[in-house]
Amino acid sequence: TPAVVSAAIADRAPFIPALAPVVGADAQVPVAAGHRVGYANLDYAASAPALASVAAQVAGALGEYASVHRGAGHLSQVTTRRYEAARETVRGFVRGRVDDSVVFTRNTTDAINLAVHITPGDVVVLDIEHHANLLPWCAPKDGRNRARVVTARATIEDTLVAIEAELASEPASLLAVTAASNVTGEVLPISRLASIAHRHGARILVDAAQLVAHRPISIVSHGIDYLAFSGHKAYAPFGAGVLIGRSDWFDAADPYLAGGGATADVDLRGDENSAGTTWHTGAARHEAGSPNVLGAVSIAEACAALAELGPEAIGLHELELGERLDAGLARIDGVRPLQIFTDSTDRVGIAGFTIDGFAPRAVAEYLSSEHGIGVRDGKFCAHPLLKRLGHPEGAVRASFGAGTTSDDVDRLLNALGALSAGTT
Ligand code: PLP
Repeated sequence: TPAVVSAAIADRAPFIPALAPVVGADAQVPVAAGHRVGYANLDYAASAPALASVAAQVAGALGEYASVHRGAGHLSQVTTRRYEAARETVRGFVRGRVDDSVVFTRNTTDAINLAVHITPGDVVVLDIEHHANLLPWCAPKDGRNRARVVTARATIEDTLVAIEAELASEPASLLAVTAASNVTGEVLPISRLASIAHRHGARILVDAAQLVAHRPISIVSHGIDYLAFSGHKAYAPFGAGVLIGRSDWFDAADPYLAGGGATADVDLRGDENSAGTTWHTGAARHEAGSPNVLGAVSIAEACAALAELGPEAIGLHELELGERLDAGLARIDGVRPLQIFTDSTDRVGIAGFTIDGFAPRAVAEYLSSEHGIGVRDGKFCAHPLLKRLGHPEGAVRASFGAGTTSDDVDRLLNALGALSAGTT
C-alpha cells in the first residue's frame, strides 16, 4: 500500500458503515492470489444491488402471486391491488400530480422510447446525455428528424443560456435532459431548466435514472412534466421502469403496444356501423399484454424504502464517501477526474476518471482480478460526451450508494495507489 494514500485515509473520518443492508453485501469473489475476498461493489450507477428490505417484500409478493387484472380469484385481486398500488407509491415518492399517468415500462430506455412515441413535435436535447436519452429522439419520426442537439458549454450557466437560445429560436414541444450525468455524477439544475422550457412553451422530460435514488425529486416543485427512471438503479431488481407525467400526451397518442389490456372494445367490422377499436386512456393504453407485476412491486418497495431511509440521509452518506474518494484520488499520481462543467455544485456518488499510462479496461480488470473490486470501464453509453471530454477510448467509473462503506472506498484507493506507484 503506498504510504501517501494510507496516510490520507488515516487522516479522514473513521469507518463509515453502510446506510442500509443490500443483497449480496457479503459476496466473496476469487482473486488472482488464489483465495476469495469480499466483493467491493463500486458499480452502483450501472445497477444498484437490491435493498434487503426490497428483496423481503418482493419475496412476500411472490408468495401471493396470481394473474393480474382479469382474474376473479382472491389472489388475482390481491395481485391486481398490489400492481395498481405500486403506481401510487411511485407517484407519491416522486411527488407526481394526482392526474399524472404512471406507466410501467421495462427500464429508462423503454420509458424514453415511450416518451418519443407520445411527444408531438420537436425536441431539444443536450449532447452530454446517456444514449438512452439521445438516440431515441434522433431517430426520424414520420420522415422527420425532430431532435435539436445543443452542445453543452464549459459551465452550467452558459449551457442554460444555449438551451434557452435554442428554444427561443424555433418552437419545440419538449426539452429532454438528464438530472445527473452517468459519467461524472454532476447534477443539473432541474427547476431552472423546467422554467426555461416553460417560458418558451415547451415541456420538460427529466431522465432521472441517476438521480432518483440519490436526491429528493419532486415533479410538482421542480416543475417536471415527464420523469423517467429504472428500478435497477434504485435498489430494485432488473426489468421494470417508469414514465410518469401529464396524461394528455399519453391519451392522445396511439398505444405504444397494441394488444389485450389496452382496449375497452374491439370491433373488426370496419364499416360505418363500427366504432372500430376503442383504446383505454391512462396508463393501460400503453401497457398491453400481461404486465411485469413483480417489477412494479419491486420499484414501489424500493421507493418506499428510500423514502423511509430519507433523501437527506442518503445524500449525506454519499457526500461523506464522495469526499473521501475525491481526497484519496487527488493524492494518486496520474489520476484525472472527469468533469463536464467548471461550475457544478452537486454530484451523486459517481467518480469518472482515467489514470495516465493505463487503459481503462486494464485498470478495471486489475481492480477485479487482483482486489475483488467491481467498477465499470468504457464509454458508458455516452460516446459523444466521452469524445468531448477528450477520452474517446473511454474511462473508469466508480460509483456507490446506500450499501457502500468507507472500506470499499479505501480498498479502491489503495489498489489504485499501488497501480500508479508501480508497486502491485
Ligand atoms: N439514463 C441514464 C442517465 C443512465 O445512466 C442510464 C443507464 O445507465 C439510462 C438512462 C438507461 O437505463 P436503462 O439501461 O435502465 O434503460
